[in-house]
Parts: sequence; structure tokens; C-alpha cells
Amino acid sequence: MDVLSIARDALDLGPICDACLGRCVADRSRGLTNHDRGNALRVVVSMVDDEPLEVVGEPCWVCEGLTDRYDALAEQAVEAIGDIEFRTYQVGTRVSRFVEENDILLREEIRGDADAGEPIKSEVNREVGKRLGAMTDTRVEFGRPDVLVLLDMEADEIDVTVNSAFVYGRYRKLERGIPQTRWPCYECDGSGQSNGETCPGCDGSGYRYDRSVEQLIAPVIQEAMGGESATFHGAGREDVDARMLGRGRPFVVEVDEPRRRMVDTSELVDRIAEYADGAVEVNELALANYQMVEHVKELDASKTYEAHVSFDRPVGRPALIDAIERLAGRTIKQQTPTRVSHRRADLLRERTVHEIDLVEATETHAIISVHGEGGLYIKELMHGDEGRTDPSLAGLLGIGVTVDALDVVSVEADGEQAFDDDELLVGN
Ligand SMILES: [Zn+2]
Ligand SMILES: [Zn+2]
Repeated sequence: MDVLSIARDALDLGPICDACLGRCVADRSRGLTNHDRGNALRVVVSMVDDEPLEVVGEPCWVCEGLTDRYDALAEQAVEAIGDIEFRTYQVGTRVSRFVEENDILLREEIRGDADAGEPIKSEVNREVGKRLGAMTDTRVEFGRPDVLVLLDMEADEIDVTVNSAFVYGRYRKLERGIPQTRWPCYECDGSGQSNGETCPGCDGSGYRYDRSVEQLIAPVIQEAMGGESATFHGAGREDVDARMLGRGRPFVVEVDEPRRRMVDTSELVDRIAEYADGAVEVNELALANYQMVEHVKELDASKTYEAHVSFDRPVGRPALIDAIERLAGRTIKQQTPTRVSHRRADLLRERTVHEIDLVEATETHAIISVHGEGGLYIKELMHGDEGRTDPSLAGLLGIGVTVDALDVVSVEADGEQAFDDDELLVGN
């Protein structure tokens, strides 16, 4: 069927606007708007048939004037977004049932196929979106836009959904006794109450510890972004009593419903330092996209620890060095440690000791650095966990070993990938 016959049929059906007319042949002349297609067809039909150009006086029977309202809808969308900062957007439309039915009827009648041409919804999305982008100097994004604008024509409302913003960084934990995330009190299950009284386990706070890395970092970022809430995602975690030193451990803070996104990350570093008062500090802070959360959580990390150990009998230096050398490069069999067996399944795992070195030693104490594969239990590698970890330093020395303190001094991605993958960062 040629376009002129399509146009004649559409014009015969009733008063129709240029955009609705053009939408019937949206698959022709790429690059034109439907409005321009419709207008051209209307002119050509009048010339070929030598009839006066039909002026559309009555509202279009298909869209009832919706296609004339794109400028106004874009203005309303900008108003609905208000002062929320965004760089990317996506527009969705719910047209009224009546218009949706007319739109299908039109294309069925004219093209014999409701899928021919273009649905009115997708035209509204594109045309309002184009105007919104030009008015706010932002761009459309179909994957994961900063804001989603839903034009609900049925309810005569505009709904704005603001997607989360993400900040990547590394934290250093300089004091022991701080968990990574909020840790609800066991005794009251986090309620702060026990038998109607203030819980003695937590003094009513509901948390086992007053502070956490999360609570020292996330609220500062949430406030800077004007968000509703914030979630902390770490690349693994160290024990509560272990410090996190060196370059620090990668993390991502996810801020829900942020009003600001393009925050100055170097300023944030200072603000967090002030807020955390020496307990925690952050570095390498950068704006990131949503994929960074999964990346940081899933990427296998190899860690280097420093274990401060004491021996229950004096150990000569040559014997200690010999035992340490025998652990280097070894695959260690570890039955789930006794200390975590109440919350983890009892499994046998194998992990490699990449490197192990003696940092310093006396006859009764030593500091040993261990670079191990992700998941290697370091404390058990030292004390042997009553034979559940094999080989171990205690096993090789044939004496009791106690771990007095443990620090993480490095967390690096295993293999080719890096935590701070450029693809996942947002340029300032
Ligand atoms: Zn129309
Ligand atoms: Zn409690």
C-alpha cells in the first residue's frame, strides 16, 4: 500500500492531527518527526487530488490534542523534578485508555496491523524527552537514568523516581573494636528493650557496638547528597578487632533518592575525617555508577594481614623461620573455624598462602605478615584451631600459638581486574 493511499484513508476517518497522521507511517523517511511526516502527507494529498488543504479545526479524534501538549508536558516534568540534580533521564508515558484504544484502532484500520507505524506512547516519550533534555541540558539514558519521569495521562499526574547515587572509596580503620556495619544487639534483637526494661546488653541503643565503619562514613555522604537513606557495601570485611591499614578496603556507599549527585569528593574526604575523629578515614573517593556495588562485592580479593602472635613456650628464630617458610605457597585445608561455626556451615575449604614473612620476633612474640587467597582464615592459620586448620604455624612448631591482634594491611583484587575500574566511575 502506498503512503498516499494510507494518508487518504486516515484523513477520511475523521479529524486527525499531523502527528497522528504521520505516526501511521513512522517507518518511512527516518529522521523526520511524525508531525513533519503528517504535515507533508496532508499537503501532498491536497496537491495530488487538487483539493483545498484540509485545516484541522476540531480536536484530533485519536489523541484529543495530546500531541499539541509536548512543550507544556516537558515544562511540567521539569517542575516535577524540581531542584533534584540529574544528568540523565528517561520519560515513560501512560496514556488514557481511550487514547490508547483509538491509537490501536487507527493503525489497525489504516495499515491492517496494530503494530505498524509507531504507538503514541513511544512518540510522547521521545518528544517530551527531547524537550526535557534541551531545557535542562541533560541526556536520555535507557539503561539506568538518574531520574525516571512517568507522565500519567490517565491520572493526570507526573511521577518522578530518583535512582540511587554511588560513591566508591577505600576506608582505613585505625582503631580496633569497630565492626564494619551496624551490629544489632543479640540480647534484644536490636530493639533496645528487654522485658520492658532498657536492654542491659546495649544500654538501649539496640547495637552491640556504639560505632561502625558504616555509621562513621555513610551519614556524611548521605547528607552531602541530600539523600533519604544510605547503604554501605564493603569488599569483604575484617574482624571487629582487626584494624584496616595500608591503602584501605574498597567500599561503595549507595545513597537513596539523592537531591545532589555531583558532590565534591575531596571535600567529603575531609568531612568524613572530621566526623570519624581518627577512628576511620577514607581515600580514593570517587563518584561511581550502580554496577560498582556488585563489582566491589563480587570481585575476589587477596589480602595481606599482619598477625601479632605469642607462643606458649620460647621459640628459637631458626625454628620459627623454618616453620614460616614451610607455609609459603602452601594450600591450607581449613574446616570452618570453631569461632564462626555457629553461623556458618561446617565445610572443608582449601586456600593458598601466597606469601608469608616474619616482620619481627622475640622468643615469645612475633609479627607475621600473610598474603593469602580470599577467604583464608588467618587466625586459624596461626593457632591451628585444634587441628581443624592444617598445616598451621602452631602445628608446625608443635606448640600453642595465640593471636593477640590482627590487622589487614592490604586488600587487592585477585587477577587482572581492579577495584577502581574506570568504566564504573563517573567523570566529574
Ligand atoms: Zn492526534
Ligand atoms: Zn540490646
